[in-house]
Amino acid sequence: MKVLVAIKRVVDYNVRVQVKPDGSGVAIDGVKMSVNPFCEIAVEEAMRLKEAGKATEVVVVTIGVEKAQDQLRSALAMGADRAIHVTTDAQMQPLGVARVLQKLVDEEQPGLVLMGKQAIDDDCSQTGQMLAAILGWPQATFAGKLEIDGDKATVAREVDAGLETLNVDLPAVVTTDLRLNEPRYIKIPDIMKAKKKPLDKRPLDELGVDLGPQLTTTKVAPPAQRQPGKKVADVAELVSELKERGLV
Ligand code: AMP
Repeated sequence: MKVLVAIKRVVDYNVRVQVKPDGSGVAIDGVKMSVNPFCEIAVEEAMRLKEAGKATEVVVVTIGVEKAQDQLRSALAMGADRAIHVTTDAQMQPLGVARVLQKLVDEEQPGLVLMGKQAIDDDCSQTGQMLAAILGWPQATFAGKLEIDGDKATVAREVDAGLETLNVDLPAVVTTDLRLNEPRYIKIPDIMKAKKKPLDKRPLDELGVDLGPQLTTTKVAPPAQRQPGKKVADVAELVSELKERGLV
């Protein structure tokens, strides 16, 4: 079974992003970029499936700017067999990404598509669901545990009431949650090996994909400043403070 893993280049989760002065977005020039953490978990899971003999090939794909190649190389260093880079400078949105992935799924015919449950930059959490819908495939989102048995997958997902277990027929789209696994550290020899692995570049324009109706961002603003807290000496003072602020 071939596994296709979609990974996104995002601002590293340790970076404190700054909103651009004109409110058009966040500044990313000179900022550290990484593989979206949930996508890293998806790559790790694909590697574990391959090591367990359940997957035969792991193909990683990203859609984005030239530099997104670095994130594909990281996934190759984790062990993926080959990479596809759909190159574009366009600001991609979930529906457009899903349509491009649909095209690649048609070409590659994977038995499983693994994706992150959400990208930490736009927090959309939509792409996996949209891809499954347009492919007409089953979807199991927010996976905390994944087992493959023949042409079926069992996925445990955390929901408010506890753990929900789903059985889906393959091929399917599975999106990863934080508890699915802990991604491996990449060793230097693996980085060297990754440089020689195949990376296929596909200009987005040549795929002939209609990106569909797109969203327009009207404004990006930083969160409101938090008011400083106040220590109170006792319950009486707490109650009078709350009353003063009209909270009780
Ligand atoms: P989102 O719906 O934007 O929160 O993204 C959910 C998942 O879709 C990500 O974790 C990736 O697996 C995939 N994805 C989103 N954008 C891209 C992209 N530009 N290239 C490849 N995969 C993507």
